[in-house]
Amino acid sequence: MKAKSVVIIGAGVGGICAAIHLAKHGLHVTVMEKNANPGGRCDWIEREGHHFDTGPTLMVMKPVYEAEFASLGGSIADLLELQQVDPTYRLVFDDGSQLALTSDMQSMRDQLESIEHGAYQGFIRYHAEGERHYRIAMDKLVNRDFRRFTDFFNFNNIPLVYQLKPLRNHYAHMSSYFRNPHLKAAFTFQDVYMGLSPFEAPATFSMMPYTELAHGVWYPKGGMYSIVEALMTLARNTGVEFAFDTTVEQITANGKQVEELVLEHNQRESPDLVLANADLPYVYQDLLPIDYRAEKMTQKRYSCSVISFFWGVDKPYKILGPHTLFLADDFQSNFDTITNELGLPANPSLYIHAPRQLDSSMAPPGEETLIAVVPVGHLSEDGSQDWDELTDQARVHVFRRLALLGITDLHAHIKFEVSFTPLSWRKRYNLVKGSTHGLSHNLRQLGYFRPSNRHPRYRNLYFVGASTRPGTGIPTAMISGRLAAKRIVDELAGLE
Ligand SMILES: Cc1cc2nc3c(=O)[nH]c(=O)nc-3n(C[C@H](O)[C@H](O)[C@H](O)COP(=O)(O)OP(=O)(O)OC[C@H]3O[C@@H](n4cnc5c(N)ncnc54)[C@H](O)[C@@H]3O)c2cc1C
Repeated sequence: MKAKSVVIIGAGVGGICAAIHLAKHGLHVTVMEKNANPGGRCDWIEREGHHFDTGPTLMVMKPVYEAEFASLGGSIADLLELQQVDPTYRLVFDDGSQLALTSDMQSMRDQLESIEHGAYQGFIRYHAEGERHYRIAMDKLVNRDFRRFTDFFNFNNIPLVYQLKPLRNHYAHMSSYFRNPHLKAAFTFQDVYMGLSPFEAPATFSMMPYTELAHGVWYPKGGMYSIVEALMTLARNTGVEFAFDTTVEQITANGKQVEELVLEHNQRESPDLVLANADLPYVYQDLLPIDYRAEKMTQKRYSCSVISFFWGVDKPYKILGPHTLFLADDFQSNFDTITNELGLPANPSLYIHAPRQLDSSMAPPGEETLIAVVPVGHLSEDGSQDWDELTDQARVHVFRRLALLGITDLHAHIKFEVSFTPLSWRKRYNLVKGSTHGLSHNLRQLGYFRPSNRHPRYRNLYFVGASTRPGTGIPTAMISGRLAAKRIVDELAGLE
């Protein structure tokens, strides 16, 4: 019997992983990617010997990577050269005080107690709660695709309401552990990874600081793009075909089936199945026939965005660790500006990555490769944000913050700058509103409430990636690839 054909729209991490799973199950898989290279948001640029990871820079949840690579038939130990980053981050506050987050518990005790008497005990209790949240959430929410209403709404899940504290605001919940605002910020800023403010995130997300310290933050030699290269090796070995520089412009449908993919120059393809890895709201709004579901996408909440700077610098800055976070004292107004006003805060929290501190191949000898990431609101409906002006302001904030560490001459040593704004994220990867993490991960868009991996009407259209289940992040995209592929395989086998 002829193998069923599937076209995957997009070679992001979720798309590549789903492709491998499906090819292993005997499907004929073609991945069509609009860009010239795979990886999607996990992307890179190289200039004058400087290598920049333009998207992810933090490899967290290593056990998930290990499990997902194993499920793809690969071993992470064989495919990647990993190095643990400890301290994970250096946090710098507005008054110049610092906290190095580390798995060295003696150092944590000394640092926390010097900030607030009794804080170490609070940290131990918070870490224990984070461990519980991680274990339960991974089992009950993340590793699940919720095919039926009853998969979520059943008696077994009732305890989740108090086990995972989904109804409790994450930042407010920190008062149970710490009084000092710097400590509350130090253990909630990770919500930004979900594109969320700690003031709207559920307390469930204490699982993130837990996993960073318990499982570590890691660095793959050659940068985060090595993960994409490892996945591409597995995909090619499994027989997946790739078509780069190939944009899908439209998906046509007939009744309950999608029929054709319309490419540039009116070329047409009619696979048996379509799996969309492109951002889910974009697929509804730009590729599918417009219906009320596309309209519903406009009412959803979207994650924040970022302005990123990529600087080739002609001298090293040894004082910088690999990951430095400047956390603003006006933590709440920072998030209010980003989430509600869609702007750039007056004193933004921001992140600096110096990969050469981990891997000398990331910069020419005696030079530095620097990435600065400043969270901002996503694109507004009325297009009134002036991104050139906001980029200039964000750059000034980065220089001002670096001065706290004694770096006052960076502007004079930058050889070149590349910068991305929300407009770049939208253009490069078709992310709706330029939201770097896709649909937001607030309570109404998490777990069962996040759009499903299968289209509700078109029986042969599926979704994989950050805006579908389970959510954003590279390890999560790998899980999404496995869940979406399993659903397809089960449905083809008549098991659903
Ligand atoms: C700035 C930033 C920092 C991040 N930091 C981290 C981090 O430190 N750690 C972490 O784990 N995660 C991080 N993430 C999140 C992580 O990168 C994403 O969640 C993950 O890569 C999303 O994968 P995906 O499968 O959804 O696919 P995507 O990356 O969204 O890829 C989808 C692909 O579809 C393609 N496409 C779109 N439209 C079409 C079309 N019409 N035709 C053909 N192809 C199309 C796009 O070009 C793209 O290649 C970060 C993201 C960003 C942007």
